[in-house]
Amino acid sequence: MNKSLKQMKEDLLRRSRHGNEIMDKSELKVVDKFCEGYKNFLNKSKTERQSIKEAISMAEKFGFVEFDSNVTYKPGEKIYCQNREKSVIFAVIGKNKAKNGFKMAISHVDSPRLDLKPNPIYESDSLVLLKTHYYGGIKKYQWLTCPLSLHGKIIKKNGESVEVSIGEDDEDPQFCITDLLPHLGRELIQKKISEAFLGENLNAIIGSRFISIDGEKVVGGDKKNLAKLNILSILNEKYGVTETDFLSAELEFVPAFKARDIGFDRSMIGAYGHDDRSCTYASLKAILECSNVDNTVITALVDKEEVGSNGNSGMKSSFFKDFLEDIIEKEDLKVRHVLKKSKCLSTDVSAAFDPNFKTYYEATNTSYINCGVVVTKYTGVGGKAGSSDASAEFMAEIRRIFDENNVLWQTGELGKIDDGGGGTIAKYVANLNVDVVDVGVPVLSMHSPFEVVSKIDVYSNFLAVKSFFESK
Ligand code: MN
Ligand code: MN
Repeated sequence: MNKSLKQMKEDLLRRSRHGNEIMDKSELKVVDKFCEGYKNFLNKSKTERQSIKEAISMAEKFGFVEFDSNVTYKPGEKIYCQNREKSVIFAVIGKNKAKNGFKMAISHVDSPRLDLKPNPIYESDSLVLLKTHYYGGIKKYQWLTCPLSLHGKIIKKNGESVEVSIGEDDEDPQFCITDLLPHLGRELIQKKISEAFLGENLNAIIGSRFISIDGEKVVGGDKKNLAKLNILSILNEKYGVTETDFLSAELEFVPAFKARDIGFDRSMIGAYGHDDRSCTYASLKAILECSNVDNTVITALVDKEEVGSNGNSGMKSSFFKDFLEDIIEKEDLKVRHVLKKSKCLSTDVSAAFDPNFKTYYEATNTSYINCGVVVTKYTGVGGKAGSSDASAEFMAEIRRIFDENNVLWQTGELGKIDDGGGGTIAKYVANLNVDVVDVGVPVLSMHSPFEVVSKIDVYSNFLAVKSFFESK
């Protein structure tokens, strides 16, 4: 045995690297600059509709034009196809067009939030409140006392559309859900969390003053619903809507925080919606920078992942396959033959190891902040239930691409076998007979109003998608 121990360790042991082991000062500068763009994207994209709008507006600046199914596109052309303002597919046509399959990255644009119920407004004890119905997996207590902004659309009976976005500007009012003071909470804290915090109690306060005629004092008579009437009057003046118009509306409460640097060293970002906008941004930026690609590359940003990918804007919608068919059929190729040769990164976040909750992770198979993009071979629950499980062959290809392009990467599972679990859109893509694996950014406090990621990981995710797109 001539090798030194050091050399043997180098040759034989797996080790994950920390970002600072492969990035110097100038590279970190690139990382930080990239993340300024990402924070800007986060602040403009609090909902799925806003994310799609912002993504398209960015893409148009890079020469992407709206897809026309009557046109046959040539190599180098850049197109996008939007679906109901809630999902979009971008494509850059490669030299081989569809012949050798597509390279795809798919991320989701919806995040856990509080939607309004169809009959949301009510008054109770002179406070006016909005009833919500939570969307996605949340820990309900995290949404109490959290400053909220309200975003979405109201479509009036005549079809006229009203945009609502309130609570983001410094001058805007915000909203919140109240919590019980600790002095009165001795009985409450004895309860199980699932019993102490109920979905039906997630009602946000939106007003408290009575309506008055010509600014006069409100004296005598029945005061019931005068505060509610005041709010409806304000809404009618501002948006031209009545209470019934909430039936045909999609309004979402989201945390009103802006994205902020976290830490004295500014190495991390705290924000609402890193799941999955960190990956949305990576998949988007990667395709924006593509031009001379061999195989056609596709970035799809989809809705409804947090509730199972159902519906016409989710990954299970035929919208995605319909678009691919439109391109493929122009070339007299069979859709199934192209899909069989296609490859995909399902770009979604993973759970970063949290020193405050060590026992909930399996330390050898979890992802760590600053160790790069997480490659997750399979997801699922218990015995991998519901997972598509990437093949060893495809894992080897991804490893090779990332290593050749100096992409910082690690592997990770979502928690301990019988405690953790989850899934992404990977399986729906795999069901189309496409090779697919999950990659994404490790996140602390995932699904909370204020999630945390590392800047190095956000940038590594972008490099991962970019190198995959450009690979042979
Ligand atoms: Mn996600
Ligand atoms: Mn999620």
